[in-house]
Amino acid sequence: CRSSVSFQAKLLGKSNLRFASTLVFVESTKDGKIAQSSLSALSAASQLGNPVAALLAGSASGKAAEELQKNPGSASLQQIFVAEEHAYDHYFAEKVTPLTLELLKDPEYTHFVVAGSAVGKSILPRLGALLDYQPICDITKIVDATTFVRPIYAGNALATVKCSQDKKLISVRASSFPVTAGEASTASISKAPPVSQVSELAVKWEGENLVKSARPDLGSASKVVSGGRGLKNKETFDSLVTPLADSLGAAIGATRAAVDSGFCDNSLQIGQTGKVVAPDLYIGLGISGAIQHLAGMKDSKVIVAINNDQDAPIFQVADYGLIGDLNEIVPELTAKLSQI
Ligand code: FAD
Repeated sequence: CRSSVSFQAKLLGKSNLRFASTLVFVESTKDGKIAQSSLSALSAASQLGNPVAALLAGSASGKAAEELQKNPGSASLQQIFVAEEHAYDHYFAEKVTPLTLELLKDPEYTHFVVAGSAVGKSILPRLGALLDYQPICDITKIVDATTFVRPIYAGNALATVKCSQDKKLISVRASSFPVTAGEASTASISKAPPVSQVSELAVKWEGENLVKSARPDLGSASKVVSGGRGLKNKETFDSLVTPLADSLGAAIGATRAAVDSGFCDNSLQIGQTGKVVAPDLYIGLGISGAIQHLAGMKDSKVIVAINNDQDAPIFQVADYGLIGDLNEIVPELTAKLSQI
């Protein structure tokens, strides 16, 4: 997504702000729970000031729509469209894009909002290509209905993007739009319009191998303990990071160096090419603070860094720094926290 300041207006539908509406694609789990990142997308959509409609797809979408209706904070929702079909179960972009497009053909929809999740990231460029609009990716702030802020250069600069397109196709960084508690919605639930052009699916669902964990989800956890190359090996990672995370009820994260060295699974990677987190508390153990890692965690509310190099760049973003050997500091810290 380019961060150009102006875009060419398109004449696909008559721009008439009197009828401006926002459509949000809402993801849900197999058992009909709304994804946290989609609740953030709804929170962002409500800031646009237009009536909001949600689109849910997949065999659990009927149940998810009912949950969405009851969800505190859905007050701005006026309509929920449901495509309750197995065909949408795995959110293949090839299937979901034509479904979304069907609704977006209506010129009333001036904004389309999706979470910057794997699903959102795969739908948005396709919609952009089919509608011939430039998507605005990974926004972190809504200035007004046409002006958005998004990080560029791995989060080292912020671009304020003014968009004059009739339709704004937006993905949001979930951690920047906290879910607001409020009233439940009075939205009506209706069937999504049928897709007029059904194309042959070029991909096939083979299966999934989900890592089951009792820990909070890394992307939405309020506390994160993250380990870096300074932990030296997998054994130290497991024996120091895990107990500290347990004592805090925190999610576990890691740097790319730790992942590449085989200390932990790559689903734990935080950073430019990993997950973006913004917990209330982030503790980094043996992490230097490379810009690519900072891109994924520097919006954390309180950052604690433990490193034996006092010049490590992570100390420039840390609120609290402990300079010393993590092999001594971490067990002591864990023992003290366990006594609380
Ligand atoms: P290091 O930089 O090696 O730092 C280890 C730190 O541990 C040092 O500061 C050292 O002082 C400290 N240490 C060592 N021993 C001890 C001890 N006993 N006690 C206390 N401290 C100790 N990285 C990411 O994390 N996420 C990404 O998404 C990501 N994407 C990238 C994308 C691209 C295109 C590129 C080029 C790189 C990317 N990287 C990413 C890699 C990034 O540049 C760094 O290499 C990486 O973040 C470094 O990880 P680290 O801090 O664990 O390791």
